[in-house]
Amino acid sequence: MPYLKQVILKSGKDQSLRRYHPWIFSGAIKKMIGNPKDGDIVKVFDNKGEFLAMGHYQVGSIAVRVLSFEDKEPDREFWYIKIAESFKYRQIIGLANSASTNVYRIVNAEGDGMPGLIADYYDGTLVVQFHSVGMYLIRDILFDIFSEIIGKKLLSIYDKSQKTLPYKAPVEPLDGWVFGKESIKPVKEYGNIFKIDCESGQKTGFYIDQRENRKLVQEYSIDRKVLNMFGYSGGFSVYALRGDANLVHTVDSSASAIKLAETNVELNFPGSSRHKAFTADAFKYLDESDNKYDLIILDPPAFAKHQNVLHQALQGYKRLNAKAINSIRPGGFLFTFSCSQVVSRENFRKSVFVAAANTGRSVRILHNLSQPADHPVSIYHPEGEYMKGLVLYVE
Ligand code: SAH
Repeated sequence: MPYLKQVILKSGKDQSLRRYHPWIFSGAIKKMIGNPKDGDIVKVFDNKGEFLAMGHYQVGSIAVRVLSFEDKEPDREFWYIKIAESFKYRQIIGLANSASTNVYRIVNAEGDGMPGLIADYYDGTLVVQFHSVGMYLIRDILFDIFSEIIGKKLLSIYDKSQKTLPYKAPVEPLDGWVFGKESIKPVKEYGNIFKIDCESGQKTGFYIDQRENRKLVQEYSIDRKVLNMFGYSGGFSVYALRGDANLVHTVDSSASAIKLAETNVELNFPGSSRHKAFTADAFKYLDESDNKYDLIILDPPAFAKHQNVLHQALQGYKRLNAKAINSIRPGGFLFTFSCSQVVSRENFRKSVFVAAANTGRSVRILHNLSQPADHPVSIYHPEGEYMKGLVLYVE
């Protein structure tokens, strides 16, 4: 029997799919058969009737998120194999069995062949985020598979999808514990200790994606005065202190983030007088403070979530980076990041280049940074490389 829900592409719109790109935009669709609804599995064909892929359908600009290029129904075994492979990969890269780190991402959406699914592991607690209706609808199967695969090392699951699904979607997810209720114990990252607030914190509770970049900050911090701008829970600050910085200032506009940063510094360096935290707007702080630093970290939230505000975002990166470069002492360092998916590495680099030129300082690029190995990017889905960073030496 032919599969009931089908998506037929317009002529020529099969090309990106033949190169294994996992998204089908609504404009590429010629017709649909079987009236697919949000979250349904659909089979995708070219305009001559050749099978191309199978995926989750959703109303919106990305109409289909491809799950497989094989013509096979996704049953429990299909999902089991995918999640088991993801988990095995984290073992191979040394994270799932590390003695010094017990917080890492287990499923990174398209990067692990599972568009719409994010799962972060916090020493016993899995925080899961659904970004597509199709994934949300099979959540019970997925939770069950995670429990089976992680086994005794899984004590609780928290579902944090209230804000990650399109508001028009025909589902009403609520954040909450799926099982096990204890709040997360402080986790370890390269031996540093962090308190995690998955319920009211940002993302799934922690910016796991900055782990390797924090490590690099540690290497550059000795005897330096450091500013961690957009510091959230103090990740970069703890590493700078671990690297023997003289003094670290953490700045964030959120008072609860600053409180968490102070808690985390205290957990790692009880009673330390080397750290001060300020609740302040980044632009205002850089304008009004007379402090000069030897190392500044700029890790702002995504300035552009959509293509139509790209120009504005690039201006924002320019202004911010120029202000930061002006606050760096001669012979200092700037770690600057963009996590906007729509800002390309090239665009980001140009913004920072214009910022540097505006200050008239001599600036060298020391490192190009990205996201860590537990946030892999499918080579067929370059959009997955959302994090761009530069380390600059400023004379
Ligand atoms: N570097 C952090 C993550 C930063 S996320 C880490 O490694 O954990 C971005 C942070 O910027 C958030 O904590 C948010 O509260 C803060 N923020 C957003 N707008 C801001 C502004 N205008 N000034 C200062 N902080 C801001």
